[in-house]
Amino acid sequence: MLVKKADFVISAVKPEQYPDDALPEIALAGRSNVGKSSLINCLLCRKNLARTSSKPGKTQTINFYRINDAFYFADVPGYGFARVPKSVKKTWGKMMETYLIGRKPLKAVIQMVDLRHPPSKDDQTMYDFLKYHQIPVWVVATKADKVPRGKWQKHLKIVKETLDMEKEDPILLFSAQTAYGKEQLWHLIVQQVAN
Ligand code: GDP
Repeated sequence: MLVKKADFVISAVKPEQYPDDALPEIALAGRSNVGKSSLINCLLCRKNLARTSSKPGKTQTINFYRINDAFYFADVPGYGFARVPKSVKKTWGKMMETYLIGRKPLKAVIQMVDLRHPPSKDDQTMYDFLKYHQIPVWVVATKADKVPRGKWQKHLKIVKETLDMEKEDPILLFSAQTAYGKEQLWHLIVQQVAN
């Protein structure tokens, strides 16, 4: 996939601020620190378009990136930081829910989990939520470079079992460090936005 253009468009907190040109959208969701910004930068061959997080739960907005003027990536806030106050969690949850349930151009959600660890309760909740609302979901297991190749299958099995994944849902390995899985993920994205 040749990324000719990648523009950060807006950080939105409410639907009125979402882009309104009806281009298809792929959302990215995952625990804070899972490697979401790194994956976006890696896919787009940009160093710092999506800012990698240093502070827990810093991004509480939905960040839209327009790619090749053909579709959007919607980076939804990272979840799962215990230290975030309940009130903030609530606002967050509401914003995510409003977006994920109500967003017409949304074609699929890339749900990211860390390959090294079994998915957390929050990961499970997110996956169940997406399935319940019949939103297409692909699981991307990040930081593959940190797990020896010989153990990949074992770790993937744990991810699938912990999330109780549907057989038909794709699961992919990814490393922002080595760009492993990049072409495969692009392939899925291109197919889905063309539909
Ligand atoms: P975000 O909070 O989900 O946006 O996560 P970041 O992209 O900021 O990544 C969190 C940390 O994990 C950073 O220190 C990254 O350098 C590191 N990281 C992200 N992806 C990878 C990866 O594929 N391999 C390795 N080794 N480290 C990664």
